[in-house]
Amino acid sequence: MQVLSEWARALEELFFPPELTCGFCRERPALDVGACRGCLDALHIRWEKRVLHGYPYFSLFPYQGFGRSLIHNLKFQGRYEVGVTLGVFLGLACREEPELAKVDLLVPVPLAPGRLRERGFNQAALLADNIKGVWKRPICHHVARTRETKPQSGLPLTARKRNLHRAFALLPGADFRGKCCLIVDDVITSGQTFYALARVLEQNGGRPVGLFAARTEAFGSELGAEKL
Ligand SMILES: [Zn+2]
Repeated sequence: MQVLSEWARALEELFFPPELTCGFCRERPALDVGACRGCLDALHIRWEKRVLHGYPYFSLFPYQGFGRSLIHNLKFQGRYEVGVTLGVFLGLACREEPELAKVDLLVPVPLAPGRLRERGFNQAALLADNIKGVWKRPICHHVARTRETKPQSGLPLTARKRNLHRAFALLPGADFRGKCCLIVDDVITSGQTFYALARVLEQNGGRPVGLFAARTEAFGSELGAEKL
């Protein structure tokens, strides 16, 4: 009887699929994109291209209010499904962006091993996996984080350079020559981590572009001259 009732349930779900719940609030029914209308409105989505430290990047919403709390839920409360839904959003946006048609590789920003153990997952890798689900691009696993990049503000120039120096290392088999590499992370604030990774990719023949779910408005202006 047990087997029979499982069959009945499977059949029922086949013909009457359960309504998907919003990946953000887990309360209201989701639209096709995986989130409800209320959460979409609260995010203030606006796809933008900007340049920071000389490298272009795209982002989806401001890192404030609801968007900021979503990122916190993802990273510090293990709300995995938030990353899944944001990844789908980013993948759909990338698919529609003509300037990103040339992208060869997704490069999720790696976490240092200590941070990865602490968090249990890398939010950038989670985003990349779900971007790939809707926008078919291979994911690069050939970059490792050797140390955390600390906030740069307030550090003297020599300390800034030391801080960025060798934050990332390439693993055997890495080949970025001539490839357009889309660096993926959840949020861009000062852009130091983005810059450090973009520079490594560029030094190894790649053409880096950034992709972030959220952006800090204060760093939104062109700071291309501020190469450290
Ligand atoms: Zn919702």
